[in-house]
Amino acid sequence: MAYSLGQSQPIIVLREGTERTKNKEAQGNNIQAARAIADAVRSTLGPKGMDKMLVDSLGDVVITNDGVTILKEIEVQHPAAKMVVEVAKTQDTECGDGTTTSVVLAGELLKQAEKLLDHNVHPTIIANGYKLAALEAVKILEKIAVDSKTDDMLKRVAMTAMTGKSVGDQREMLSDMAVKAIKSIAEKRDGKTIVDVDNIKVEAKTGGSIADTELINGLVIDKEKIHPRMPKVVKNAKIALISSAMEVKKTEVEAKIQIRDPASMQRFLDEEENQLREMVEKLKSLGANAVFVQKGTDDLVQHYLAKAGIYACRRVRESDLAKLSKATGGNVVGSIDSLTKSDLGVAEQVEEKKIGEEAMTFVTGCKNPKAISIIVRGGTEHVVDEVERALHDALRVVGVAMEDGKVVAGGGAPEIELALRLADYASSVGGREQLAIEAFAEAMEIIPWALAENAGLDPIDLVIKLKTAHEGEENAPYMGIDLESGEPANMLEANVIEPLRVKTQAIESATEVAGMILRIDDVIASKKMPTGPGGAAPTPPKGGMPPGMGMSGMM
Ligand code: ADP
Ligand code: MG
Repeated sequence: MAYSLGQSQPIIVLREGTERTKNKEAQGNNIQAARAIADAVRSTLGPKGMDKMLVDSLGDVVITNDGVTILKEIEVQHPAAKMVVEVAKTQDTECGDGTTTSVVLAGELLKQAEKLLDHNVHPTIIANGYKLAALEAVKILEKIAVDSKTDDMLKRVAMTAMTGKSVGDQREMLSDMAVKAIKSIAEKRDGKTIVDVDNIKVEAKTGGSIADTELINGLVIDKEKIHPRMPKVVKNAKIALISSAMEVKKTEVEAKIQIRDPASMQRFLDEEENQLREMVEKLKSLGANAVFVQKGTDDLVQHYLAKAGIYACRRVRESDLAKLSKATGGNVVGSIDSLTKSDLGVAEQVEEKKIGEEAMTFVTGCKNPKAISIIVRGGTEHVVDEVERALHDALRVVGVAMEDGKVVAGGGAPEIELALRLADYASSVGGREQLAIEAFAEAMEIIPWALAENAGLDPIDLVIKLKTAHEGEENAPYMGIDLESGEPANMLEANVIEPLRVKTQAIESATEVAGMILRIDDVIASKKMPTGPGGAAPTPPKGGMPPGMGMSGMM
């Protein structure tokens, strides 16, 4: 790009090949790209949402209706579209649910903004109005939220998160399990409830049926004992956790040892054997009766361990060792040499048990009662995966509901309440932001609209009915869509309940990204570097993306 200054030579400011779009054109492109992402996931919203079949470049297939899974799988190129995908990821890490909602809201906020831009409302005014509206929206939601202290309420939250997921008739059983698991790991710190879902170990095992999924008060390690003559059960376990191998150390550099007579050969072998025996002797002397080794174990060590009656697993994942450490109070040590008595963890029992065809190790009655595992079962790998995903969502939402102690009704109820209350708020604010707040209010209606549309109901009709119900007297803020009858119903009674945080977070991050996209008036995109020989050619922009905006990154 070149600018000419009077008579002199043009000054080259940007590198050749750089593409630049400004003002309305840049805004239009960005908004279109972001909306394309929202449109792509909108049809999956709600329990009646459709699934998407995603085929990657290697031909692998994923079938899902999970917003964040879809967005992670598809390769998005447009920078503004990428910003929207980030919203879904944030929503997922913060709440574990509401990903589709957040993206759909972002798309709708931008659609409403486009109308205002056409009427020459300045983007900054729109962004400010949206910010005000989002702040007010959070206040309104907090007002209509209800307590979620009871187990029953938590269970209903779990059930809602699992609707539409293929978990068969086991939704209730899995919900009970999720609540039980979360309650046993919840901690009180400085008067606050903290739930770290990572404390629950979910182990998937194909085989059996979903009904065989079980909750274990302890840790399940997907490893069997390494020697058939080791004990099947060890009571009052004293557990060593070793992050290296139980083998004779191999030298780092290649070394040659020349042995000239049979006697020294024997001495050499004896020496090796001694070293291995000493490792086991050391364990014995410390009183350890179970050992988990991250790397390999020598055949001879296995033999000595079995002889000493010590239960052992090898090739244990590093993350599992960390979990074992937390559960049993033991320390993970680098080698047997440095192991001391105080490094040993304790558990009431270490046992090998068969789950389907395969044996696993159960460490139960741990020092830390917050060690919990769930073994997910199901007929095929696809089923197990889907159940694992559904259970994960359920654990997350129950955790969030437990931490905050607040939930809201779902099924479009909170969004309609927001649409109405924010419209009132808009007129109280007045000024130039009023239009933007009104647009924000209207954007909220997209959620009940899409829920109705995806269930094959008439969205216009339903949104009107819902608005009427929300102006009524009784239970007005809880009136959402009963997708079976197509009529408004009290969602608290219909058991469609979500954590408050899922809604507030979705609104906050959708508002933030819409504001960010609106404020961009200049896109300067460097020329894509050609990939070397043999590398893939730069792919053209995907469908729905405006032409000329297919850069995979800005600058
Ligand atoms: P997200 O990724 O946003 O969580 P979902 O596909 O899980 O998307 O849909 C969530 C929406 O579906 C929420 O608005 C929720 O209130 C609504 N919903 C869930 N279950 C029901 C139900 N049984 N009836 C009506 N709406 C429901
Ligand atoms: Mg959901």
